[in-house]
Amino acid sequence: MELICPLCNGLYEIKVICPICQNNMIDKGPIVNYLDNYSPYLPDEIISKVDGVPSYKCIHLFKCLRCKHDKRVEVDRVYF
Ligand SMILES: [Zn+2]
Ligand SMILES: [Zn+2]
Repeated sequence: MELICPLCNGLYEIKVICPICQNNMIDKGPIVNYLDNYSPYLPDEIISKVDGVPSYKCIHLFKCLRCKHDKRVEVDRVYF
């Protein structure tokens, strides 16, 4: 079994409602995709190689297409 992010791996999607306009927000992917060099959030590939330091959250960026608001959502990793 492996600890993975269900969103990154396409297991399921979650619904996030925009706090500003109540529109559905779309998943823009893990936040690590938007940061260069330094990031406290490492991608799955790197995390799985770090012994004894499990990460239980994957931070995704959700964006509202109507009002352009964006929001970070912590996604619980699951055993798969
Ligand atoms: Zn993810
Ligand atoms: Zn909105």
